[in-house]
Amino acid sequence: MARYTGPVCRLCRREGMKLYLKGSRCYTDKCAFERRPFPPGQHGRNRKKLSEYGLQLREKQKVKRIYGVLERQFERYFEMAERMKGVTGENLLQILERRLDNVVYRMGFASSRAQARQLVRHGHFTVNGKRVNIPSYLVDVGDVIAVAEKSAAKMEHFKALREQGPAGNIVPWLSVDFDKLEGTVTALPTRQDIDVPIQEHLIVELYSK
Ligand code: SF4
Repeated sequence: MARYTGPVCRLCRREGMKLYLKGSRCYTDKCAFERRPFPPGQHGRNRKKLSEYGLQLREKQKVKRIYGVLERQFERYFEMAERMKGVTGENLLQILERRLDNVVYRMGFASSRAQARQLVRHGHFTVNGKRVNIPSYLVDVGDVIAVAEKSAAKMEHFKALREQGPAGNIVPWLSVDFDKLEGTVTALPTRQDIDVPIQEHLIVELYSK
């Protein structure tokens, strides 16, 4: 399961906005984007206005980076979104939100999607009682996502969560019981529920060429 392993703060600088890829560090003055809010590279400060294609491409790259998805998987999600009823761009965001690593992050069990992905990969979560270690697993309405019993008992990360509560705000389509360290998908997210700063129609236009 491939993932991006390069420097992540560069990605925020490239996209011209904070993508919150590093958890708590993103909220401190150590944030690289706060210090250098211009694209990386020798000519970063001198880049010219983007073309229409450039804008569409950047929007696609931005959403891929936010959710930690590489090109081929993203294309598969786009094809799925096209086959679904409704607005393709909104379907695409909904699919991305339904990824297990994103849901673990949204439930407040991790401070970033990258951390959530690692926790899932290491087998610390169950879905409906069965251990699932696939970050791209798509959850559905009614699914119960829980910290595996052993992990909840042994890992400091989860013990701290029980005491301190979620590592972020919980979205309205999920409900979480922090005493039990488990959450339920109560609905699929609508566009209004998804707070990522994306103009998804630009991505649809890019793929329609
Ligand atoms: Fe982006 Fe977080 Fe790095 Fe800031 S600290 S540049 S928000 S990943």
